[in-house]
Amino acid sequence: MERAPVASINLAIVGVGKIVRDQHLPAVAADGDFRLVAAASRNGRVEGIDNFDSIGTMLAAVPSIDAVSLCMPPQYRYAAAVQAIDAGKHVFLEKPPGATLSEVEDLAARAAAQGVSLFASWHSRYAPAVEAARAFLAGTRIQRMRVTWKEDVRQWHPNQDWIWQPGGLGVFDPGINALSIVTRILPRPVFATAATLEFPANRQAPIAASIRFSDAGGLDLAAEFDWRQTGRQSWDIEASTDAGTMLLAEGGATLSVDGRVVHSEPEQEYPMLYRRFAGLVRSGASDVDLAPLRHVADAFMLGQRQVVDPFDD
Ligand code: NAP
Repeated sequence: MERAPVASINLAIVGVGKIVRDQHLPAVAADGDFRLVAAASRNGRVEGIDNFDSIGTMLAAVPSIDAVSLCMPPQYRYAAAVQAIDAGKHVFLEKPPGATLSEVEDLAARAAAQGVSLFASWHSRYAPAVEAARAFLAGTRIQRMRVTWKEDVRQWHPNQDWIWQPGGLGVFDPGINALSIVTRILPRPVFATAATLEFPANRQAPIAASIRFSDAGGLDLAAEFDWRQTGRQSWDIEASTDAGTMLLAEGGATLSVDGRVVHSEPEQEYPMLYRRFAGLVRSGASDVDLAPLRHVADAFMLGQRQVVDPFDD
């Protein structure tokens, strides 16, 4: 028997910048569940659809929109999300889902009250080898874990002033990706026990951070985030376990155990995010896990502050 066709979800994208062009537009174009009908951005435009200067004018002009993806910097996401939820739209939040824990909790409550789906997306959780790492760790005793997320901010975030502003998270903008993986693959919750944050003398957000974590069983977990890395970039999570040493490398793309690659597949993070979002919309569910953002907030609460050399682009 042929399946009845399922109506596509009319999607609008807000905040047309780097991640929209790099990932959202190709992922949405390849996903039969979505039809991109409009975009709202102060300067950015998407060819072939209606474009608006603000989410408010877009929502008023295009009532057929079912869902919106909010891809502007995190400091400006809450106000847009409230407008979308109040208009009865399902909402996809880029990571991090907001500038504070409380505002995202408020969004989750508003979405539940309105009966719309809210998806706090964590793209790195959909990296190819993350689920394999989670399965490996589930059957082991973990002695020690080291997270090394070191990249060149000049290469990956040129001219992004928002990232250095309060709420922009600084080095935690990539670091939270590591934390989204760690909180997915570890069998038990962890908590920060100490942190050091390095702030350039002329900036409001850290350029480097180190955090120590533990859990009820005394796990030895340390994370090093640094934006001053030139040359080889590192996005690695290594764990010493009673079943061998696991290395989840390249941002979650490859899993090795004792030096042997056991899982490696092409990257499909954004196509998988949109699969997940479609599933949430179709089933009337939400997915809002605040654990990665909570760890960043804890690091800011607990962290020693060190002032380091000024940073200029
Ligand atoms: P971006 O290009 O600097 O910003 C996206 C767009 O947001 C801008 O083009 C701008 O469009 C709009 N915007 C900027 N400031 C705004 C403001 N004050 N109010 C309203 N809109 C504003 O940033 P991005 O790299 O795409 O990152 C956006 C989000 O995606 C961040 O949360 C980031 O963590 C996440 N993300 C980024 C990457 C990446 O590789 N870049 C990867 C994964 C996730 P208009 O000027 O047209 O309004």
